[in-house]
Amino acid sequence: MVIFGSDVITAINTKKGIVVIDAGISTGLSSKYRDRIEMEFQSEKFAYVINTHAHHDHNRGNSVFVKSQIVGHKNSLNEIEKQWEMPEKVKKAVGKITEEYDLKLEKYKQNSEEWYYAFKQKTRYQNSYNDIESAIPIKKPNITFSDSYNIDMDNITFQLKYFGKCHSNSDILIFVPELKLLFTGDLMFQFGRPSINDTTKVDKELWAEAVCWIEKRMYGIDKIIGGHGQIMSIEDLKAFNKKILEQIEVD
Ligand SMILES: [Zn+2]
Repeated sequence: MVIFGSDVITAINTKKGIVVIDAGISTGLSSKYRDRIEMEFQSEKFAYVINTHAHHDHNRGNSVFVKSQIVGHKNSLNEIEKQWEMPEKVKKAVGKITEEYDLKLEKYKQNSEEWYYAFKQKTRYQNSYNDIESAIPIKKPNITFSDSYNIDMDNITFQLKYFGKCHSNSDILIFVPELKLLFTGDLMFQFGRPSINDTTKVDKELWAEAVCWIEKRMYGIDKIIGGHGQIMSIEDLKAFNKKILEQIEVD
């Protein structure tokens, strides 16, 4: 995992090339993460980038993996279009966040822990701002799926499953059985707290299906990795399933 503030890229080296999960908020920083991964694995063979969902802090860096296939849920395509209908608005919002971190940097004691965190976040948003200003397009997924999709890399496999509209309109789960890992994007946080942005719960039948899908794999999971580098436990995952089922039952 390459982690810088809330930017997190996970890279897994397989017999058929490197698979990357999520690509960060900017091309400027993600090209550096890519170099770091190349150095670690002594390989430039990036086969796939999988986006856990279509928010820009997870896919803006897709384009630095020039030769990779990009995999995401089919709703990503529309979602990306929609997010960038008014780039000026996004640019303004990102610029404002950058300024807020600038103020924090002035306030905090230099080189303290909180100062470093603000510095990293400021750098992320500044790089994101630069991409928007230079109108660098987002490399969209060229492999999309509706319900589930498997990627077989010989010694390592990736099982992708659509969660249903929840944190975004394109949230997927990624299970890697050989490594006992489950990637949950921004769907859940510590203690299983779900991130539900779709309050209409239009896809609650899909949520129930996804919870079943997780339950079936529960004993094969050792660690859960969140979209911003949180490493969570089976207890967190069980709590998440419970909370989702409660949400479904409410109405
Ligand atoms: Zn998100």
